[in-house]
Amino acid sequence: MAPKRCNLLLIYGSQTGQSKSIAEDIKTKAESLNYDVEMMSMDDSVEKIPWKEYRFLIIITSSTGDGDPPENAGIFWKKIRSKNLENDYLCHLVYALLGLGDTNYTTFLGYPKSVEKQLQKLGAKQFYKSGWADDAVGLEIVVDPWIENLLPALENQILNPQTLPDTIPASDIPVEQSSITITPELAVVPEVEKQLTVSYKKQEEELEKCILGLSNLKMSASPLSECDLKVPVLPVSYLELKFNSELIFFPEDVLRKPMPSSRTPVFQAKIKSLKQLTSEKAAKTTLETTLEFSPAEIEYQPGDSIGVCCANCSEEVDALLHRLNMTDQADIPFKLRVKEEFATMKSGTKPKYEVPSHLPNLATLRFVLTRCCEIRSVPRKALIRILAEFSSDDVEKRRLLELCSLQGSNDYTRLVRQPELNVLDFLNTFASCHPPVERLLEQLPRLLARPYSLSSSPLKDPKSASFVFNVVEFPVQDGRTYERKGVATGELSRMFDKIKTGSTDSVGSNGNGRAFSLSVFLRTNSGFSLPKSSETPLILIGPGTGVAPFLGFLAHREELVKRDPSLTCGPIWLFYGCRNRDQDYLFKDDLERWHSIGILTRLLVTFSRENKPSQPKYVQDLIQVYAVSLVKLIEKGACVYVCGDAKNMAKDVMQAFTAAFQTARQLDEEQAKKAVVQLQIEKRYLQDIWT
Ligand code: FAD
Repeated sequence: MAPKRCNLLLIYGSQTGQSKSIAEDIKTKAESLNYDVEMMSMDDSVEKIPWKEYRFLIIITSSTGDGDPPENAGIFWKKIRSKNLENDYLCHLVYALLGLGDTNYTTFLGYPKSVEKQLQKLGAKQFYKSGWADDAVGLEIVVDPWIENLLPALENQILNPQTLPDTIPASDIPVEQSSITITPELAVVPEVEKQLTVSYKKQEEELEKCILGLSNLKMSASPLSECDLKVPVLPVSYLELKFNSELIFFPEDVLRKPMPSSRTPVFQAKIKSLKQLTSEKAAKTTLETTLEFSPAEIEYQPGDSIGVCCANCSEEVDALLHRLNMTDQADIPFKLRVKEEFATMKSGTKPKYEVPSHLPNLATLRFVLTRCCEIRSVPRKALIRILAEFSSDDVEKRRLLELCSLQGSNDYTRLVRQPELNVLDFLNTFASCHPPVERLLEQLPRLLARPYSLSSSPLKDPKSASFVFNVVEFPVQDGRTYERKGVATGELSRMFDKIKTGSTDSVGSNGNGRAFSLSVFLRTNSGFSLPKSSETPLILIGPGTGVAPFLGFLAHREELVKRDPSLTCGPIWLFYGCRNRDQDYLFKDDLERWHSIGILTRLLVTFSRENKPSQPKYVQDLIQVYAVSLVKLIEKGACVYVCGDAKNMAKDVMQAFTAAFQTARQLDEEQAKKAVVQLQIEKRYLQDIWT
């Protein structure tokens, strides 16, 4: 066996599993080139810090909230920021960093950029330009070429240790070895593939000229259909399932496990009520869920959110099992383990492959596909590469290889990522594709809990909490092969339908007489809580379901005043928006009542579809109207809270506040932007936004 080329430390900070899965991809590639790779989470790496036995460090990390570390990177962050570290603490290291972010959020890539700054402060040197990927336009646009050039850059660094990226731009490093070239007519067997020499021809420019629209998921168009393809290395198959009908599996043991970012353990909360808030005519269906629990299980504050552990739709799981030819084995318990040849470990180190932490060692396929795997996730290129491997039809195989190839990136973004296709859409489209289920389990990410802002106050009832949500719907189009609702909102909407159509005895009890319940946990506080003093003026901006936490704020204030009528309270202004006053004006009665009793000082509402040109259309337009008064309130110490849609609303609202500062204080745009940033620094401009 050839000697190992060098020791690499590969660490990831991952909230949703993306960074981890990218790190796994890099690990596979590096190991195929005979590098010795140690991979772990950033927090796990702290034990070994300052990593004296390594010279090469690769970091893949995302950013959460307002530029905070992901769940397994917070300890790392504390460690590398310790005041007692010398400036040469990490000077023995050269590093490469890939940051994952989303420009929908104001602090784009806050955490990865802070890590980079700190690494450099501690003497580490970059050997490859950092990649900053943006989920708003597609992570793969940056991630794919970054990974592509990473190992050549590392190779170059090993050969020329003095060269750092200022002298060798990453883009100039020759691309080779880390992936395989496939010619158009080819339906190759893996052994042959590995021996193919790489002849990457720079065809991107030509490909850009490809007339978009001619191709679809199943069919490609020229020039993509005719060019040589550079495709990812086939991921290693490392898991094995052993079915044994004598095993006994207890799902409860798995479901009780704590979830990432949870403040409380997961517990069952009964559904006390599930109500539709919008009229039948409304464009979206909005539901309100009220949960019931014992106060010992959850102690929350207005502004907190709850994590709902959801389950994939049973019909969809059935369809997937059927398509995988696993219906007969769906309920037979199995043991899941790493194949013998990958389970061995060097003394003192972790095994190279492990059963993914979200998969139980003992379970059934139905359980795993229902409760553990995000079967709706958009297949990553590595998974598409696997699907190609298991397609017997040459035309289908070629198309799948195109979709995961470097040259097919445009098609991947347009035909797979944008319509948010999933693995079942692929299996429905590519009839000859029959992957073993283990290959999917290796690739599908963890089914994440969905967070919802609580819309109630514990002072009103410590044994219950509510949240409000829109049912997300995806029609059959753009390659989607079946109609579906969002995972969590779909599950809740199906419960609602059962209640509404009377297939249950009454609200809260299903056909078996057992109450509907949800597995939930309280999420760590996002810094979106009420100020300590009730005298602080509040400016609340929450159109649509973004009003949810403010209902909690207002109910809380009402209770506080009830308990102490002499309480001095600052003014509260609420900006709310919806389409039509008769269709989707959520909590109209509550808001108007709070306004009438003085809890709410100003209730400012816009209706975007009422077509009255003289009236402001959106909350950001209303903010412009009240610019001077709002700035006065801010000067009196007001806190601004923005909640709801991150894609458009949050940015437009921030822009409106910038404009308000310009108007009220006669500032230019730069100065006004600085005023808003200053508010953020003082934690007086707070956002709880989601995409
Ligand atoms: P999934 O199956 O996860 O599908 C997600 C896809 O649906 C997304 O990729 C996107 O394309 C689309 N999508 C997601 N949300 C919407 C939407 N609102 N409208 C249209 N398309 C959408 N949501 C609420 O409704 N109310 C809340 O109070 C709330 N609070 C949140 C608080 C936080 C801190 C965060 C991070 C998110 C919050 N969300 C809230 C969003 C919520 O967690 C889910 O993402 C959303 O309900 C979709 O979940 P799902 O499983 O039904 O959809």
